[in-house]
Amino acid sequence: MDNPMKSKTKQIWVFGDYRNYFQNRVTLQLLAKAKELAKEIDADVCTLVMGNDTQEYISEYIAHGADIVHSFEHKDLSVYNIDIFVSLTVHLVKKYEPEIFLIGGTSFGHEYAPRVAKRLRTGLTADCVALSINEKKCLVQTAPAFGGNVLAEIITPNHRPQMTTVRPGTFQERPHDYVRKGKIIHHDYLTDLPKDRIRWIRSEREPQTEQNLEKASVVVCGGRGMQSKKKFKKLFELARLIRGEVGATRPVVYSRWSSPETLVGQAGKQVSPQLLFSFGISGAIQHTASITDARFIVAINKNPHATIMKMADVAIVSDANQVCNALIKAFKNRIRS
Ligand SMILES: Cc1cc2nc3c(=O)[nH]c(=O)nc-3n(C[C@H](O)[C@H](O)[C@H](O)COP(=O)(O)OP(=O)(O)OC[C@H]3O[C@@H](n4cnc5c(N)ncnc54)[C@H](O)[C@@H]3O)c2cc1C
Repeated sequence: MDNPMKSKTKQIWVFGDYRNYFQNRVTLQLLAKAKELAKEIDADVCTLVMGNDTQEYISEYIAHGADIVHSFEHKDLSVYNIDIFVSLTVHLVKKYEPEIFLIGGTSFGHEYAPRVAKRLRTGLTADCVALSINEKKCLVQTAPAFGGNVLAEIITPNHRPQMTTVRPGTFQERPHDYVRKGKIIHHDYLTDLPKDRIRWIRSEREPQTEQNLEKASVVVCGGRGMQSKKKFKKLFELARLIRGEVGATRPVVYSRWSSPETLVGQAGKQVSPQLLFSFGISGAIQHTASITDARFIVAINKNPHATIMKMADVAIVSDANQVCNALIKAFKNRIRS
């Protein structure tokens, strides 16, 4: 197929990761960020979609900002196969030479992105927390480094595409625009693909136990200062009363007071609620880097000098358990009256 875009405009690609769609909206979030970046380098925003019967997702991506959709549609793509997905991607990237390629930091993205980068001999920055364009029109990829103690700004000056993964919840998606139009380019499926090394037998969706923390508008986060599993459980009661979700710090997850799905931070989830409670949390960068998009933070800590108290909109110097219990009582009374 002819390349209608080549040498006309630059392209920023977003990988169309539609599996677990509706729970996981990372592709839509990346499209919104790609749109911002595209303005700076005068580029088209493109999504790469591979699968069987993907029209619904293609329309959704256009409605959320994709100017062009590169589509591979084939029955063999209905089942996820990393070798085939990587081969098709590499084939198309070589043809279209996108400037930037953004991939969701999902379990799929973490498997797929390094393989694509290796085959293209380009760089990849994992789990960026911010993206921007510098004066040389290079993508500045901000990511935690050296065990998360610093935020590094990484650029890929000599190789293309500039590739990065971004965790769900890092950026906000744009509103759905039903009338928006985009161009869909259907590509022929390749016949010389590698032989399957994996045989797919069946798949089952894991039952979802937790609600979607990344999308919650109220988050109740708890840390080691909650002191015990029993006391930490109270945060779930509070969250239920105020229709929020519970988040946790790493020591809490390691102590098994809460499940790994609730981890907020560099190694866990990024949250962007309207209101965030922080109970007994010190405010280490590995945690706070993932709560910077919270609109309003209420921190409760017995240490007035804890880092979290400086970034909070309301800082309450008190025992976290006492405040949690008092809030539960107050909300229960309010519901009754
Ligand atoms: C590579 C790497 C990745 C990491 N990733 C993550 C991550 O994704 N998420 C994450 O959270 N951490 C992560 N960490 C760990 C992080 O550095 C911190 O150790 C962690 O966030 C601290 O958790 P905390 O605030 O619960 O505990 P602490 O730092 O021990 O803080 C407890 C706080 O509770 C207060 N407190 C104690 N008792 C009370 C009380 N009764 N009432 C009120 N306040 C009280 C104390 O004053 C203190 O401020 C990572 C670390 C590394 C090296």
